[in-house]
Amino acid sequence: MVAVPIKNVLTTCPFCGTGCNFYLKVKDGLPIGVLPSRNHPVSRGRLCVKGWNAHEFITHPERLREPLIKTAKGLRPASWQKAIKFTADNLQKIRDKYGPDSIGVIASARCTNEENYLFQKFTRAVLGTNNIDHCARTCHSPTVTGLMRSFGSGAATNSIDELPDAKCILIVGSNSLEAHPIIGWRIRTAKDKGSTIILVDPRKTDIGIFSDLHLKILPGTDVALINAMMNVILAEGLEDKDFISRRTEGFLELEEAVKKYTPEYAQEITKVPSDLIIKAARTYAKTKPASIVYGLGITEHTKGTDNVSSLANLAMLMGNVGKPSSGVNPLRGQCNVQGSCDMGALPNYFPGYQLVEDEVVRNKFEEAWQVKLPPKKGMTSSDLFKEMLAGKIKALYVIGEDIVMSEPNSTHIIEGLKKLEFMAVHDLFMCKSAEFADVVFPASSYAEKDGTFANADRRVQRLRQAFKPMHGTLPDGEIIIRVAKAMSFDLETKNPKEIMDEIARLTPIYGGVSYERLDSENIQWPCPDKTHPGTKTLHQKEFSRGRGKFFAIEYRAAEELPDEEYPFILSTGRILFHYNVGTMTQRTKILSREFPDNFVQINDEDAKRLEIKNGDFLKVSTRRGALNVKAKVTPGISEGVVWMPFHFAQSMTNFLTNDVFDPLSKIGEYKVCAAKIEKI
Ligand code: SF4
Repeated sequence: MVAVPIKNVLTTCPFCGTGCNFYLKVKDGLPIGVLPSRNHPVSRGRLCVKGWNAHEFITHPERLREPLIKTAKGLRPASWQKAIKFTADNLQKIRDKYGPDSIGVIASARCTNEENYLFQKFTRAVLGTNNIDHCARTCHSPTVTGLMRSFGSGAATNSIDELPDAKCILIVGSNSLEAHPIIGWRIRTAKDKGSTIILVDPRKTDIGIFSDLHLKILPGTDVALINAMMNVILAEGLEDKDFISRRTEGFLELEEAVKKYTPEYAQEITKVPSDLIIKAARTYAKTKPASIVYGLGITEHTKGTDNVSSLANLAMLMGNVGKPSSGVNPLRGQCNVQGSCDMGALPNYFPGYQLVEDEVVRNKFEEAWQVKLPPKKGMTSSDLFKEMLAGKIKALYVIGEDIVMSEPNSTHIIEGLKKLEFMAVHDLFMCKSAEFADVVFPASSYAEKDGTFANADRRVQRLRQAFKPMHGTLPDGEIIIRVAKAMSFDLETKNPKEIMDEIARLTPIYGGVSYERLDSENIQWPCPDKTHPGTKTLHQKEFSRGRGKFFAIEYRAAEELPDEEYPFILSTGRILFHYNVGTMTQRTKILSREFPDNFVQINDEDAKRLEIKNGDFLKVSTRRGALNVKAKVTPGISEGVVWMPFHFAQSMTNFLTNDVFDPLSKIGEYKVCAAKIEKI
């Protein structure tokens, strides 16, 4: 008997923005397992439980294997030719009847850079609108907006592999060991090397177990806390005066604004004891190098941009920017959410954060693509969905996202989808949003295509095709090329390598990126030319905007606070065993076995008062809906706060969340709304 050889294909994990690399093991043309890459600078031979199981969902029997078109009897199989023509005809008809801005495109942080580049090119050059956005709007749009206005670049300032050398790590609103486990492990390494860990979080997450200080903050009060830390630093003269005068502007306004935020005043707002605030401020100020790491606990608020700029203020106050193992480091969510932003899957930017309203930039793209482009910025996804509900958006093209599950207030999203005249969806599986579509395309997974992802520290890395697309499926990029062709536009690209060459030609921060280089290195942007090594640490000599800008920020409360009827704060987030809307992880046996269903965490004192025991079924209600879920009683969460994950299609937490938005970044307030708990 001849043994069947196993092929090991080096690729990038399709789950979180940490960007671990592994070898996908392929036998007989099918994935059978993964092996971590020892040399990878981020993962260093390790993976989390999701990465170890990243092969299983690919061959799940529920994979979509043929296009579907809506009929009177529901969605029914159709040929590729028919589905492509149906899509092109409908988009054309709606564009001609209502104008290009009546169409919206939701791109995907699960797709490659090359595919996102094609989506935005298709949206701008073929549909004629800038109405393109993606899930960064629901996770790190405040990072892009906040860090852009403070530093001039909306990305992580430093590298993940610098974390173990930080002497102090301030973690704000990030459950890193569950949401970004390998980054959590690098933080643990820093701790083992003597680093002081300060955690700011309403919950004592696993990181809280080994952190030196835990500031159990009331959700939505971060600005008050950070202002109070700066108040302490300034009162004690600990600020980096030289850095402030040489590298920043706006300091006097900041100094004035934080005067009233004494630790005692902040205690009233945040519920963090003033002595802990003082201790945290002194520790962060006196320990160098000090790194700030943050997650969605900072961003998913109506004040998300303010929160991000507050952290930027704190880092600049101590001169902690532009140096190794320091800076302000957002932990980006999905595998390629950084890359989707980089590629211009945003309503206001071409690839590389080049403004669509800048005539010189627009002329460059018009010349390259040989087409007239729309001059005004488009709508964010939050605005698109609002206009969809108002009946003004007539068609939606959603690629690899499940907006019914991921957007706040799912009921509003469903009502909006029902008003559309046409909706197209690409996905691996039949997701909640696809149920409302007129056409559904079966897409190929990360293992079936070439391309690149950019991770949380701006690292551009290869995805390598391990085997041909599963029978009946096509890569998302190929589907878009076919739809464009049916609309008489040739996207003029043949393969992902050539698309990257086009990206490099038109995108200065990716100027030196090529598949030849990516074969032997992964490159952190900005990398302006072929001889540039890439950039581990941003803003070393000067900020991308010249001087770093302090913003004087006042604390403003969340939009919906507890009251008599809804006395709890409901906050939401991720768990280790599942990933975002669960499309892939809920189809992975081990992951589903560990956490098969939704739950609500409740403080043990609150539980005692309400006579709730661990495992009891509770009805969690907000002004938008109600869900019945099991109780997880824990002392680790603050009194008056309950917390739920949002991964479960059978019990969608976003039926409860509040669709109010940050006016600057347009992110929804997933982290704070008022809720009621009843035992059933
Ligand atoms: Fe994949 Fe993130 Fe886990 Fe790394 S930490 S293996 S990138 S899910």
